[in-house]
Amino acid sequence: MKEEKCISCNIRILNQKGTVKFRCPQCGQFDIIRCPSCRKSAIKYKCPNCSFVGPN
Ligand SMILES: [Zn+2]
Ligand SMILES: [Zn+2]
Repeated sequence: MKEEKCISCNIRILNQKGTVKFRCPQCGQFDIIRCPSCRKSAIKYKCPNCSFVGPN
């Protein structure tokens, strides 16, 4: 199993409830992973592939 990390805070994801994983809405090339605390605090993320920045 691949190690997954939150894109914003770099915390390691270990089957935490509330974690979301989705493809970058702009380029569709990169999997964005966000932990529950970053979602709750609406921390911004940036796609390393296309530099898309978003809250969702
Ligand atoms: Zn996080
Ligand atoms: Zn992207």
